[in-house]
Amino acid sequence: MSYHSWLECIRGCGRRYSIYDVVYRCEECDGLLDVEHDLESLKDRSAADWKALFDQRTRTNEWPYGSGVWGKKEWVCPQIDVANVVSLGEGNTPLLKVERLGQEIGLPNLWVKLCGTSHTGSFKDLGMTVLVSVVRQMIAGGKPIQAVACASTGDTSAALAAYCAAAGIPAIVFLPRGKVSMAQLAQPIAHGALVLALDTDFDGCMRIVQQVTADQTIYLANSMNSLRIEGQKTVGIEIVQQLGWEVPDWVIIPAGNLGNVSALGRGFLMMKELGLIDRLPRIAAAQAANANPLYLSYLAGFRKHQPVIAQKTLASAIQIGAPVSYERAVKVLRAFEGVVEQASEDELANAAARADRAGLYCCPQTGVALAALFKLMERQEVLPEHRVVVISTAHGLKFTNFKVGYHEQTLADVIARYANPPLELPAEYSAVRRAIDQATAGWRG
Ligand SMILES: *Cc1c(COP(=O)(O)O)cnc(C)c1O
Ligand SMILES: [Zn+2]
Repeated sequence: MSYHSWLECIRGCGRRYSIYDVVYRCEECDGLLDVEHDLESLKDRSAADWKALFDQRTRTNEWPYGSGVWGKKEWVCPQIDVANVVSLGEGNTPLLKVERLGQEIGLPNLWVKLCGTSHTGSFKDLGMTVLVSVVRQMIAGGKPIQAVACASTGDTSAALAAYCAAAGIPAIVFLPRGKVSMAQLAQPIAHGALVLALDTDFDGCMRIVQQVTADQTIYLANSMNSLRIEGQKTVGIEIVQQLGWEVPDWVIIPAGNLGNVSALGRGFLMMKELGLIDRLPRIAAAQAANANPLYLSYLAGFRKHQPVIAQKTLASAIQIGAPVSYERAVKVLRAFEGVVEQASEDELANAAARADRAGLYCCPQTGVALAALFKLMERQEVLPEHRVVVISTAHGLKFTNFKVGYHEQTLADVIARYANPPLELPAEYSAVRRAIDQATAGWRG
């Protein structure tokens, strides 16, 4: 079977490029480029056959098809030679039914997609495996690429550095100095990337990396590069597959640069086009109130894109004021009867802590999505009978300062309603006994 994909201008001017061309914007009209697939040729298999193939591959160890991304290779990046695939076992992350939290909030059908249970601890692995594989194939084909570069709020650089290290390709990462977590800073350092910490914010790093990658020998790995979106779109497909090929009523997703919400939509649209599903979920994009350009635009009916200066937020991975994939995201939200919600620092931190109490371990971005869910329930947009999937974008273990700060009650603008600081006691039985008695009395009461 010869399936095929290419880059095409998102503004509909018709300009196309090869996925192996070093190009990020349409040369006619400056629009971003999307990967498009030859859907007619993909229709040579029935929906039932695709489902069976994907199901079978989730249970295989046959490299690279056991990866959640490469198990859907024909839909993601059909023409790449498997010898050039750089995979670190991404995808196939758990879709957890979170019964206790669901019961507490009156939503018995609440699921959390744990995208942070992944090699570098965030969903960024899904897209990076595709991008770095394509780069490896370009280099194998003689393209003079010397390094791959990205600006990052922390997780993109961790993923880029890991995949490049696995492939032996040099990586350059631009981070806003002092604005990423300790774990996120340690990851690219450990993988041998050139780490440039700049005195600016993410948007400032993004401007510089675009200048640096105007030089064609340094390839741009930010999500304006739609190869990443192709890998990330498998999350929607995986969710439906894990629900027994049923479509949830809602998917709630944290949103910063807006690549991931765009990717989520593309996965669902492709399944619908190829007959695997017959309806679409509603999508809720969740932003931090301190970095909320999409929310503001939503309130104004998406009439215009007004970048903001992103303020400091605990949800540092979405502290972005000028989202690159704004146009893509608006298209998706329009097609999915989408809504946008926002969460204050207090709301996101308490939402994450509340979910932790029920057995999750949420990153602050997931806290934003959960806070958005609580608000949508209050507004009766999300109803108790709905089946809801919240996308958890990173592992809580990457955000230890956030957790410790919350429980020590030192976070700015947060009243920690679930604070549970450790009791510091002398090493004496009587003191310990008293502390246990006091605590357990509280549990009974
Ligand atoms: C990158 C990231 C996001 C935001 O995704 P976008 O594609 O930038 O909207 C959310 N959460 C985490 C943990 C991330 O790393
Ligand atoms: Zn164009």
